[in-house]
Amino acid sequence: MQNETDEFHDSDVDVFDLYNACNGIIRGGFLDVKELDKYSPDDAKALNVPRLKEIWEHTTTGCPQCREIIEGLHVVRGAVHDVADIEDPDDGPARDVDRIKSISK
Ligand SMILES: [Zn+2]
Repeated sequence: MQNETDEFHDSDVDVFDLYNACNGIIRGGFLDVKELDKYSPDDAKALNVPRLKEIWEHTTTGCPQCREIIEGLHVVRGAVHDVADIEDPDDGPARDVDRIKSISK
């Protein structure tokens, strides 16, 4: 049982890639897999979307390890937004938008 899921945990990077590829959008407690269908064929190839979908299917099994990684990423993203808002309120909105954009990529 343990070994079946281990390949998804060789590194956190795969789940991280999936999170980014889904733009961090979570629906019904899982990453929004429909985001993966929005990529152009070239982008989908570069991102290895079939692999990402495999990982996504694995995350929907309720794997606590993946959930922890995704929740961690979500907290980091939320925290960064808060910091951007609080850190330099007089810095102008353009810079904050740029910063959020660079995080979203
Ligand atoms: Zn997992």
